[in-house]
Amino acid sequence: MTLSLFDLSGRTALITGSSRGIGLALAQGLHAAGATVILNGRHVGHLEAVARDLPGSHVLPFDVTDHDGVRKAVDHFEENNGAIDILVNNAGMQHRAPLEDFPASAFEQLLKTNIFSVFNVGQAVARHMIKRRAGKIINIASVQTALARPGIAPYTATKGAVGNLTKGMATDWARHGLQCNAVAPGYFETELNEALVQNPEFSSWLGQRTPAGRWGKVDELIGAGIFLASDASSFVNGHVLYVDGGISISL
Ligand code: NDP
Repeated sequence: MTLSLFDLSGRTALITGSSRGIGLALAQGLHAAGATVILNGRHVGHLEAVARDLPGSHVLPFDVTDHDGVRKAVDHFEENNGAIDILVNNAGMQHRAPLEDFPASAFEQLLKTNIFSVFNVGQAVARHMIKRRAGKIINIASVQTALARPGIAPYTATKGAVGNLTKGMATDWARHGLQCNAVAPGYFETELNEALVQNPEFSSWLGQRTPAGRWGKVDELIGAGIFLASDASSFVNGHVLYVDGGISISL
């Protein structure tokens, strides 16, 4: 066992939704482990600001819900800059409302952003990885694959689907030399959870409900990201790794 198993030097990683939050932390972590990172989001200005602190990084803006746009952006990058060795499908969104009032348009947007995106970017990148017979795909699911919390049923449904699509990707693409796994974060203080972060009653509930007794910090996802992106996980496939302070196993 050696630390070089975790070394990502010479590898290039595309992290969707890396302008802030969990995606930004994962981009910083993979960069610190030696990878060249490709930053993605919908706003080029935000990505360029992040890129200034990550020497050698690339900016690749696209909307993960746009199947053809994703394909064009990925193909253009591969032709002009070289191989994408690691893909982190992180971009996602949340919408809170009781299910009886949940707007159909919001449900549709959740489906497109949280699950159709994983197919869009996964397929576009995997087509190149399959030719090289190598590649690592990490999908960001959620602890909500194991829980059901009020007001977020459609989000929970999309994240359950991310877990299942991860298993499907692993099954279809292992024979082509790819590994596909998922990380399921618990509760982290990001913009996506702003309403909960601002609510002291929720933080108090979370402190009691989570064995670790607190919110997660986005940097605490980096170890799982590096593990699944590196040679250290060479025989791990189709796995969903919970990073949640234990909330998913706590009654
Ligand atoms: P944030 O809202 O902080 O960040 C979301 C990121 O996704 C931003 O960079 C945003 O960039 C990007 N994004 C959103 N929609 C699109 C799109 N259509 N195309 C391209 N990029 C897009 O969320 P988090 O960091 O909290 O969440 C990241 C992932 O982790 C999500 O999949 C979320 O479901 C998951 N997760 C989060 C948890 C948490 O506690 N925070 C818990 C479990 C899972 P921009 O707006 O600039 O396009």
